[in-house]
Amino acid sequence: MRLLFLGPPGAGKGTQAKRVAGNLGIPHIATGDMLRQAVSEGTDLGLKARAIMERGDLVPDDLVIAMLLDRVAHDDATDGFILDGFPRTIAQAEALEDRFGDGGLDAAVVIDVDSEEIVRRISGRRVCGNGHVFHVDDPRWVDGEKCDQCGEPIYQREDDYASTVRNRLNVYRDLTEPLIAFYGDQGTTMHVIDGVGDPDSITESIMTALRQ
Ligand code: AMP
Repeated sequence: MRLLFLGPPGAGKGTQAKRVAGNLGIPHIATGDMLRQAVSEGTDLGLKARAIMERGDLVPDDLVIAMLLDRVAHDDATDGFILDGFPRTIAQAEALEDRFGDGGLDAAVVIDVDSEEIVRRISGRRVCGNGHVFHVDDPRWVDGEKCDQCGEPIYQREDDYASTVRNRLNVYRDLTEPLIAFYGDQGTTMHVIDGVGDPDSITESIMTALRQ
């Protein structure tokens, strides 16, 4: 099964995509995570991507497409995968279609959250080096310094700073949201899920939609 999770930054795509991928036994492929890793390793790609990501802009299509096509060619992706954060532009969606044919996907899950809630979530979001995600209003946010799951220090992603969040939302609206119409035109199955509420219930809604 080739699935895409689509939604604005802060919609909870990453958390949900990871859980659903675990349930379905297919890899969770998150281009944002891959790029952050490239930045922290200081690779050529990372050096090119770093400043762009800090501004909340998109890394050029050719770089991201090459990275993604390479990743989906790995053995673990033969039976499918969940894409999180790719495609983000029509050109990226077309590259996926060229690679897999027939729209490129079996279904898209669109996680719907309004902008006010997005800003609240992102400005309070903190992460640890192993990718565990917190919110400052979360009861687990005890000392605010170390991850309660792995002990790694907790920090705020630079692209989560308030000034950058606004840009990321604009980029989403202008370049990524048109993918909903793109996949609608392709006849790709779309499941629109309300992304506000208890994370377990949201996972259950997604699993129910995918089983239909
Ligand atoms: P994310 O973790 O998905 O919010 O991605 C973080 C940042 O990585 C984005 O704001 C972009 O700068 C970059 N990025 C991730 N995926 C893509 C993509 N498919 N195309 C272009 N840039 C991307």
